[in-house]
Amino acid sequence: MARYCGSKCRQCRREGTKLFLKGDRCFTDKCAYDRRPYGPGQHGRARKKVSDYAVQLREKQKVRRMYGILEKQFQNYFTKADLMKGVTGTNLLVLLETRMDNVIYRLGFANSRIQARQLVKHGIFKLNGRRVDIPSMAVRPGDVIEVREESRKVPVIMEAQEAIARRGCPAWLEADGANFKGTVKSLPSREDIQFPINEQLIVELYSK
Ligand code: SF4
Repeated sequence: MARYCGSKCRQCRREGTKLFLKGDRCFTDKCAYDRRPYGPGQHGRARKKVSDYAVQLREKQKVRRMYGILEKQFQNYFTKADLMKGVTGTNLLVLLETRMDNVIYRLGFANSRIQARQLVKHGIFKLNGRRVDIPSMAVRPGDVIEVREESRKVPVIMEAQEAIARRGCPAWLEADGANFKGTVKSLPSREDIQFPINEQLIVELYSK
């Protein structure tokens, strides 16, 4: 599948916020957004008139880039969220949060969602005892995720586990770093998703 292969930091600068796409580097003073907190390119600092549509579009792009999802798949998530009971915006965020690659990142087995996605594709995790290699797979309450025994010495997993203390594990997950395991305690609530997202803008964009 096609993927964005350009600069990740450029995406943060375009969205005007830190998207934490580069793992540990995002917490250091090497962060490109901290050093140049304005849009990329020659006219990055120029003042622009921003329409309602542009605000909605940027919010959607921000969330899509944060979770590393392409447009078509993101639209499919929105359609699914819209058909579910409850608030569409919250449903959308819950669907994104419960993706396997995001859960691996949240549990501290990877330093970024991009890295988590790659590790899942390499098949180094087990879900309820069975090997999985689909990053978009949705987890459910009660699911147990673990690193396969033969992959526990992978350096990136060891490094990520050291870094999880800085990010913290959300309340809807339970991490057992010593045993390379994690449990999904419940579905995430809106309060569990701390990142500043105005999902209503995304709903308005797709409802036009
Ligand atoms: Fe974004 Fe900074 Fe991380 Fe680059 S280092 S991806 S600008 S948060």
